[in-house]
Amino acid sequence: MQRIDFKNSRKTILIVEDEFINQELLKNFLEDTYDLIIANDGLEALDIVNEHKHNISLILLDLFLPKLNGKDLLKQLKKSDELKNIPVIIITSDIDSEEETLNIGAIDFIPKPYPAKGIILARIKRIIELFENRQLISETERDNLTNLYSKEYFIHYVEELDEYSDSKMDAIAIDISRFHIIVERFGSKFANLVLIALAHKIRDVINKLGGIVCRKEEDTFLIYAPHITDLRKVLDDILDNLFVNELSKAKARLKMGVYQDVNKNLDIETRFDRACFALNKINNNLVDNIAIYDSKLHEKEMFEEQLIDDFKQAINDKEFLVYYQPKFYIQKDSPELTSAEALVRWNHKKLGIIPPSIFIPLFEENGLIQELDNYVWNETANQIKLWKEKFNKSVKVSVNVSRIDIYDPNLIDKLEKIVRDNKLSHNELILEITESAYTSDVDIIINRVNELKALGFIIEMDDFGTGYSSLNMISNLPLDALKLDMLFIKEAFKGNRDTKIIELIINLAKKLSLKVVAEGVETLEQLDALKDLGCDIVQGYYYSKPIPAIDFERFLGDK
Ligand code: C2E
Ligand code: CA
Ligand code: CA
Repeated sequence: MQRIDFKNSRKTILIVEDEFINQELLKNFLEDTYDLIIANDGLEALDIVNEHKHNISLILLDLFLPKLNGKDLLKQLKKSDELKNIPVIIITSDIDSEEETLNIGAIDFIPKPYPAKGIILARIKRIIELFENRQLISETERDNLTNLYSKEYFIHYVEELDEYSDSKMDAIAIDISRFHIIVERFGSKFANLVLIALAHKIRDVINKLGGIVCRKEEDTFLIYAPHITDLRKVLDDILDNLFVNELSKAKARLKMGVYQDVNKNLDIETRFDRACFALNKINNNLVDNIAIYDSKLHEKEMFEEQLIDDFKQAINDKEFLVYYQPKFYIQKDSPELTSAEALVRWNHKKLGIIPPSIFIPLFEENGLIQELDNYVWNETANQIKLWKEKFNKSVKVSVNVSRIDIYDPNLIDKLEKIVRDNKLSHNELILEITESAYTSDVDIIINRVNELKALGFIIEMDDFGTGYSSLNMISNLPLDALKLDMLFIKEAFKGNRDTKIIELIINLAKKLSLKVVAEGVETLEQLDALKDLGCDIVQGYYYSKPIPAIDFERFLGDK
């Protein structure tokens, strides 16, 4: 027996371990914080416990010991009324005996090779505290079904780990997809067996990594563990031999959401919310079953939710502003204003000006785009009317028509009303329909475009070259112009100038008697080249950015 560093205020731990190197390692971890007694075999340990039973706060017990092995020693301790309340943590590399020793009464495990010092210290401190406050343990320590830690205990434990360890930690949530199918197909008794088996597998695998586990609810488990680099392996290890047939019969899978290298300034619930957020992203994703929390994505979704929440009020308060960008006909000696494009911006009360690239795709996803476009078209038509009154000129303006608008059965009625209300003629409103719209449901779109054309609207195919419309379809559509996507201009003029594709498209358009509009024209070089190639109309920063109606009026004075 060896006695080290005796100071009365400190707690005493008995280390029962026969290998010198392991004794030294544990001493090294613990001697700053605890008084240590070391026993080299099972019988010596038993003597020491009997002698110091009122002093020993915890026993760290190796399973393989000379004279009396760890399991038998544990059994003897638990048989004695005087000794059974001293908590015992098993130290072992043999995870298979974990279940058995927990049943005999060990409180926890420390795997070999040892986890980081901080983790061991946290685990030990937690357990000593809990045993000094036994009531708390028996009521709240474990989940009834799986015998894992309860959520409350787990959270305290996480706090403890953080306090003692500077390691990078991961917060992980695991659950079984389609768990309800397992319940339905095999009954809840069986489903519970699955949960218990899963719980134990997760605990075994995660304990080895120095982590801790609890059951959050039903089939959701939370893990806090030192940063894991090979998540796939961890998931495979958990799944190994685990009700393979039943899971696959129910088409159920294990899913894992991970918030890596947690920010320890966040409260613990938030860290696991993030893991769960990632987990929920894979609900319908059959390909991958591990999702890493992406803070950018999370922020984006929170931001988008705010925009959706604010939408209705913003329409009421006229926060959406319509800007106008001029388009010039360039095939004469001097450029001539032909029309403008209406482009929306959101002047958000709290966030300031938001560009359409942020909110248009979002509103296209959830259908709000119909309401927004209707608003923009109204504003635009009204502006055309005001300019007519003020300058005695008709300024054609194009508006953007989303794919979703095309499917709106009331589209024609809405546009007709707008034209009527503002006393416009149809050809004062140009409809820019993006090319990708034409490729979704061809018949509906062709019919709609024909109807609109028949009413007298001018139709331009926007973003031409980005979709996959067939030449056949283009030649069958009553279009007025192709609007070349901006990328072609960018590509053609970066580095070595190569305008072959632009030339090809312009020639194609000519064959079909369509005008060509080039957008995104920023330099004189681009303008000159496009003019030489026979492009009719140009729009871009070279002439002007999109600007408020009042600023646009300088182009009307000059016309
Ligand atoms: P789009 O219809 O292709 O509009 C052209 C975009 O290019 C506009 O971006 C415009 O500001 C920008 N642009 C114009 N000239 C240049 C240039 O020389 N260089 C560069 N780099 N960019 C130029 P914006 O205003 O941010 O609009 C983005 C997209 O949002 C539009 O692309 C359109 O698809 C959509 N959008 C805008 N307003 C509306 C709307 O009222 N309804 C619908 N459905 N979509 C809209
Ligand atoms: Ca457009
Ligand atoms: Ca475009």
